[in-house]
Amino acid sequence: MRAALTLSLALAGSVAFGPALRAAAETPWFERSLVGMEVGPTGAQFGSDPTDTGYAARFDGRDIVERCARAHCEYLVIWARDGEYAYYDSRVVAKCPGLGSRDVLKETVEAAAAHALPVIAYCVVQQGGRYLEQHPEFAMRDAHGAVIPGRFCYNSGYLDVVKRLATEMLAYGIAGFHIDMLDQGFGPPYGCFCAHCAKRFESEYAAPMPKGVTWDDAWDRMLEFRARTSARFERELRDHIKAVDPRASVDFNYHGNPPFSWEVGQLPVLHAVNGDFVTGETGVWGFSALGVGLNAEFYRAATPGLPFQVAMQRGVRMYHDQTTRPLADIRWELLTLLAHGAFATVVDKTGYDGRLDPVAYDRIGAAFAEARAKRAHFGQAPVAEVGIWFGSRTRDWRGRETPGEYFQCFQGAHKALVYAHIPWAVILDENVTAETLARFRVVCLPNVAILSEREVALLRAYVEKGGALIVTGLSGCADRMGNLQAHSALEDLAGVRFERALDSLDNHVRFGAEESPLAAVRGPAIPAGWPFLVKGPAAVMEAAGAAPYGELMKPHRTVRQRQGKEGTEWPMSADAPVGPAVFLNAAGKGKVLTFACSPDYAAASEHAVVEARQILVNAVRILNPAPRIRIDAPANVEAVVTDDAAARTLRIHLLGYNSPPAATPARNRPFVLPSLIEDAPMYRAAIELAHPFARASALGAGTVLTAREKRIEAVVSDVHEVIVVAY
Ligand SMILES: [Zn+2]
Repeated sequence: MRAALTLSLALAGSVAFGPALRAAAETPWFERSLVGMEVGPTGAQFGSDPTDTGYAARFDGRDIVERCARAHCEYLVIWARDGEYAYYDSRVVAKCPGLGSRDVLKETVEAAAAHALPVIAYCVVQQGGRYLEQHPEFAMRDAHGAVIPGRFCYNSGYLDVVKRLATEMLAYGIAGFHIDMLDQGFGPPYGCFCAHCAKRFESEYAAPMPKGVTWDDAWDRMLEFRARTSARFERELRDHIKAVDPRASVDFNYHGNPPFSWEVGQLPVLHAVNGDFVTGETGVWGFSALGVGLNAEFYRAATPGLPFQVAMQRGVRMYHDQTTRPLADIRWELLTLLAHGAFATVVDKTGYDGRLDPVAYDRIGAAFAEARAKRAHFGQAPVAEVGIWFGSRTRDWRGRETPGEYFQCFQGAHKALVYAHIPWAVILDENVTAETLARFRVVCLPNVAILSEREVALLRAYVEKGGALIVTGLSGCADRMGNLQAHSALEDLAGVRFERALDSLDNHVRFGAEESPLAAVRGPAIPAGWPFLVKGPAAVMEAAGAAPYGELMKPHRTVRQRQGKEGTEWPMSADAPVGPAVFLNAAGKGKVLTFACSPDYAAASEHAVVEARQILVNAVRILNPAPRIRIDAPANVEAVVTDDAAARTLRIHLLGYNSPPAATPARNRPFVLPSLIEDAPMYRAAIELAHPFARASALGAGTVLTAREKRIEAVVSDVHEVIVVAY
């Protein structure tokens, strides 16, 4: 609390701030902003009765602008249209009755002018409510022709309605739009199979629509059709907005990242690039604490070179719950996003009548003041040693209707690297090039089962030029429809022969004490001869040029399990070895390290033994023994490294996730939500550089730092610290 207060005073006393702001006003708001808010009312998110005139009666644009300006906001996203109402004088959709003659958008734009605060209109697309009930002709339909409640079809003509709404709002002089909810549903029943869609599908593919979820060539076309439909809707809406006002920004809320999959109708890159920048959500409630940084980096990978925005919430649980997080918890999430290069929106949902919680604005204001005072330390080029490959085709066709099984591999690889403070970034198959791969010393394929010929060729060229590849589990082992094939697409490159996939997930590995170039996979912490669980997909492989190491062990099965009378969800102990656990192959100037097991899946699983994570981290060190930077800190501290090459300055952001123990939940045991961060952590971190540096300093006054030759040691006692290293 004290640190934030000091920074707040420092910001107020800054003399350079005014001129800097004026100069910056030439650039679009989303290129100069670090922090902003989105404000909308609570009480219509599950529908609203038109006689409910108390709802949003005090939702007041002037009050919101004043509060946001005092809270150091650099832009304001104001709720202008949701599924129930418009919060301005609309001729297209019903206005919120509680507003009476007031027009919140008008109030907001007028009040914001005095503060030079850009106003962004929040406009929802896919939230079925009053308008959809009145216009069933726009409804999405399932494979049987039944209306899917609450969902619009994007081929139905609804686009024209949204264009008319946008035109109305642009007349207010807004700076842009945040267009929310461009999904096609988040699960079954799937759409859209309406007459509009069927006609368009037949004209595009000269074939009839599939009759449901068939997971065949027809469904492949359907997935493409759905994705194209969403992209077309976004682009046509964007083009309309730009035609009316070329200066207005457009961003679409994004659902291309895990845990969202094909059902949403989005691909990671195709649907990230249709606005001026991409916006997505984060929050421990839906994306985990690790998801904060992961989401930000996923958006960066999807939109190279563009700014990217992440939205977080002020409530302790989710958006509309009318609770306020402690400052330390808000600071941790906000500063994590900024350290990863995002700009951040904090979503505030007002009380039922529209009133604002003053404590929320005090805390958000303190966090925003700190963020702005630290502005010079955000936005530099990220340093990433390992690229984590995400396969959208694997998501769709291997993940199918249980995509979480695939996401767990991607997320587990990420978790292992974060805990080990190895700088990482995301690689997306849709936009990967040789240049993308060349940025990384190590590329990791965490169970990327489906790899195209183009992707394998890119990986081969990367390795042969000196790159290092980590392959886990069933990477390359499935055909383009997600079915296991007789050979792995990576066999030649990896120097192995794929025999078969194990039909178990409770697989173990065991490493002996023998001499091997791969002995460091075991490392000093794992005893020789000790079988340990590496939960996840595994393959029986034999060496075909690669050096093998260790043993992959299938699990025991009880008689009842073999009789099919008992499940195999809970891990059983290790049975006999079925093949090597790890392989190392040389190819050209590079190397491929193949795990027959899945340390990635294991790391994010419910049986996340530490050793499973360690073998993945040890593999990185075998392939890249002398990294530019090594960071040693507790596992609850995330490190983000950036490099300002022109100024020869490395920055190591340290973010302490200091969640105290949680209580047993009343429902859904044992799936506890983490407790909120209340206290700043105190911990020791050591940073080892490959080369000597000129000087090192810590941003925070409370950090005790010592630096000698290539090593920096720091005792940190805050949620966020930046170690600045001049080299
Ligand atoms: Zn349709």
